[in-house]
Amino acid sequence: MIILVVNAGSSSLKYQLIDMADESVIAKGNCDRIGIDGHIAHKAADGRTLDEDCAFPTHTEAFMKLVEALTVSDAKVIDSMDQISAVGHRIVQGADIFDKSVLVTDEIIDKIDELRELAPVHNHAHALALRACKSVIPANVPQVVVFDTAFHQTMPERAYMYALPYEYYEKYKIRRYGFHGTSHRFVSEEVAKMLGRPYEETKTVTCHLGNGGSICAVRNGKSIDTTMGFTPLEGLVMGTRAGDIDAAVITYLMEKENLTAAEMDNILNKQSGVLGISGVSSDFRDIEEASEAGNARAGMALDVFAYKVAKRIGAYTAAMNGVDAIVFTAGLGENSASTRKEICDYLGYLGVHIDSYNNSLRGKAMEISAPDSRVRVFVIPTNEELVIARDTKELLDK
Ligand code: ADP
Repeated sequence: MIILVVNAGSSSLKYQLIDMADESVIAKGNCDRIGIDGHIAHKAADGRTLDEDCAFPTHTEAFMKLVEALTVSDAKVIDSMDQISAVGHRIVQGADIFDKSVLVTDEIIDKIDELRELAPVHNHAHALALRACKSVIPANVPQVVVFDTAFHQTMPERAYMYALPYEYYEKYKIRRYGFHGTSHRFVSEEVAKMLGRPYEETKTVTCHLGNGGSICAVRNGKSIDTTMGFTPLEGLVMGTRAGDIDAAVITYLMEKENLTAAEMDNILNKQSGVLGISGVSSDFRDIEEASEAGNARAGMALDVFAYKVAKRIGAYTAAMNGVDAIVFTAGLGENSASTRKEICDYLGYLGVHIDSYNNSLRGKAMEISAPDSRVRVFVIPTNEELVIARDTKELLDK
């Protein structure tokens, strides 16, 4: 069974073709700059590539090019789209409507589009991509949608309610949803296997630390709390996002600087985080380099970041009344030994000891805690595409 996994944004369409027999990637690529001009970068597993500028006025042309890349280009990997059993799509916001992956119908696409108010950057683009995909891919190929928010639908009220007047929850669905759910689900399932324990009896804190970052408390296979909220702005300090701040700062700044809501939103989402503190970059590699070269603000940005992660790990350990394992994943979590060490140095009270040699290794799932560590710590490369493909296969099998 071959499954096409699609992650569509407003101007890009990333894809992977996965052979479910051994879960290997047959080809992957990205159709970029949709609505601007257009470019495809496509790579087959055997190393053949297709890299060219194209015209992508809309997602439909991008899908047509994707089909061409897969089926007729010099880097083709199949003869026809009929060889594909299904398409699985990543969707950012499913709100409280979707608590699991579902087969796509016209009504489902409309519902995803209606949720655009809750995820302005993403959901409308997803709906456009779903409609474009339907128009390009053979009608008998089923499509499945997998939601970033679905895993967190098990959060109890006490974790998802904001202490605002209740009418806003009723009128506008203002509550915490959480994101990165596919990633938190994947690494928490993987760590249970590595621990040799049933998923349903394991307490894990998963730290997805990338450009955007979130932490999740996974108790007995269910998300009971996570750091992102109504939008992916809440929680940790991120590359360019502020994370938690006193909400009064927002109105104060808007008055002082005469800012519109859109301008304030841009500051909080695009100009804050470690970029805002350091003034150097949103990329943690640049900040680590600047800090090593003696840039004090870069050092402070890394400090603020790690401190907040450590505090959340403590909070979620309390929320679950214990923790068996802590997992690091995503760009920074998988690659930055110094960030992991800085965070784990706060966790002595949990009996956490890191093995510095293992912590220096990269590229595969592994334990980085020392044998005498009371709580075990792991690095597990995330694989959201694989979760999407597995969910798609499972729905087809049903
Ligand atoms: P997203 O998917 O949220 O865009 P990623 O999970 O790809 O982000 O993570 C990107 C972040 O990971 C970047 O800020 C980058 O600096 C960081 N990163 C990647 N490799 C390293 C590394 N070797 N050391 C430190 N940070 C790294």
